[in-house]
Amino acid sequence: MSTDPPTPLTPHSILNLDVLFNNPVFAGGIGLAGLGAAAAFGRRATISGIALLRRQMLVNIEISKRDPSYSWVLAWLAQPRDNSGFLARRLTRLRNLSVNTTTKSLSSAGRVDEGRTHADFRVQPGFGRHIVRHRPGVYIAVNREKASTTSTATGEPHETLTLTLLWPHRHVLGEVFTEAHSLAQSFQQGKTVIYTARRMEWTVLGKPRLKRPLGSVILDEGVKERIVGDVREFLAAQQWYTNRGVPYRRGYLLYGPPGTGKTSFIQALAGELDYSVAMINLSEVGMTDDLLAQLLTQLPEKSILLLEDVDAALANRRERDTDGYSGRTVTASGLLNALDGLAAGEDRIAFLTTNHIDRLDPALIRPGRVDMMVRIGEATRYQAAEMWDRYYGDIDTDRLGRARFLARLADLGLFGGDSQNPSVPKRHTSTAAIQGLFQFNKNDMEGAISQAEGLIPRTFEP
Ligand code: ADP
Repeated sequence: MSTDPPTPLTPHSILNLDVLFNNPVFAGGIGLAGLGAAAAFGRRATISGIALLRRQMLVNIEISKRDPSYSWVLAWLAQPRDNSGFLARRLTRLRNLSVNTTTKSLSSAGRVDEGRTHADFRVQPGFGRHIVRHRPGVYIAVNREKASTTSTATGEPHETLTLTLLWPHRHVLGEVFTEAHSLAQSFQQGKTVIYTARRMEWTVLGKPRLKRPLGSVILDEGVKERIVGDVREFLAAQQWYTNRGVPYRRGYLLYGPPGTGKTSFIQALAGELDYSVAMINLSEVGMTDDLLAQLLTQLPEKSILLLEDVDAALANRRERDTDGYSGRTVTASGLLNALDGLAAGEDRIAFLTTNHIDRLDPALIRPGRVDMMVRIGEATRYQAAEMWDRYYGDIDTDRLGRARFLARLADLGLFGGDSQNPSVPKRHTSTAAIQGLFQFNKNDMEGAISQAEGLIPRTFEP
C-alpha cells in the first residue's frame, strides 16, 4: 500500500479553487447554497412572473360599497347557477355566505298581529374570496373585503368587491353589470323603494314595498285628483322652467291631524309615477342643518322628497335656547336654505308634512318652497262612504248597509255634527280609525255597523 506524499501548502495552493472544490464538504455547502439561491431566485421569478401574468392576463374591477352597483352585483352573485360538470362544481365556491335579513310585522285578517313578524333572508357572498362560474368556461374570481378604515358618512367600515377575470373574458364585465342592474330592477318591479337618511347617506329602508294603489288612499272629494294633476303638469313642464331659468322643483305641504293618510298618499303617488320616496323626519334626533343640506343635494334620482314633521324645524331653536336641549338641531333657516338649494337639473318634487300648520315659519310657505298647500283633515262623509265601498262594495250590492253605516255615524255626531239630536256633541274621526274598524270586521259589515261607536275618539280622565 503506497501513499502519496502530502502536497506542500503554498500561498498559491491556498487559493487554489480546485482544491476547494475537490473538498467534498465545501463542495456540498456550495451546492446547497447554490440550490438555495436558485430556489430564492426561482421563487422571485415565479412571483414576478405571476404578477406580470396577472397584469397581462387578468382584469380586475373594484366596486366600492358606496357605488349603487355594489348591492346589485352582490345580489347577482348570490343567484343560483347551473354548476353541472365536475370542474364547475369544484371551482364554483360560494361557501362563505352572509345573510341580509329584513322583517315585517305579520297581519292576519288585515290587522297587524302584534309581536309576530315575517322574516326574509337574502343570502349573499360573505367576506373573502370566491370563484363563480359565469357560464361554461368563464370564471370570475370574487374578493369581498372590509377595510380597516371607516366611512365618515355612515361610520361603517369601507367595503370593496373586486371581480377578476381573464383578459380575453373582459367583455363579460359589461354583461355582469347589465344583468345585475336588470336583476335589481326586477326586484323593484311593481314596488316602491323608500330611502331614509342614515347619517350622511341615503340608504334603502327595508325591502322595496309593493306599490300602494292610489285608489286605496281615500282623500276628500277631488283632493287627490287636484294634487296628482298638479304633479303631472309639473313633470310635463320641464321646458317651461328651463326657458325661464326657474329651478325645476315644486313643493307641496300636506297638513292636518295624524292618521289622515298624508304619508300613505305620498307613497301611493310615488308608486303611480314610478318614483321612489326619500324620507327625512325633521324631528329625528341627530338631524342638523348641515346634514339636511347635504342630504338634499344628493337625493336619489327619480325620487320624491318627503320631509315629515317640518314644524319640528321651528320649535328647535326655541327649545334649545330655553332649556338647553340640543337633541334636534334643524333650524327654520336651515330648512329654508336646504329647500332653496334643492338641486337643479333633475325634477325635484318635495312633499312637506306637518300636524301643526300654525307653528310653521311663514317664510316656508312661499312659491318655490311650497307651491301648493292642502289640508288633509278628519274623515268626511264622502271618505267614509268611499272606504265602505272599497271594503264591502262586493257584498253590500244594494248599498243599504252603507246607508245604515253612514246614518249611524251621523247619529254619533261624526262629520262635525250631522246628528238630528241636538244633545249629541259634534265629533270627528280619522280615516285611519275607519280603516281599523273595517279591517277588524273584514267581510262583516254588520260587525262594522255595530262597532261604529269605536270610532269616537276616547277621552281619558287623568
Ligand atoms: P298620516 O301620515 O296622515 O299620519 P298615514 O298615511 O300614516 O297618516 O296613515 C296611517 C294608517 O291609516 C295607514 O295604515 C293608512 O293606510 C291608513 N289611512 C289613513 N288615512 C287614510 C286614507 N285617507 N285612506 C286610506 N287609508 C288611510
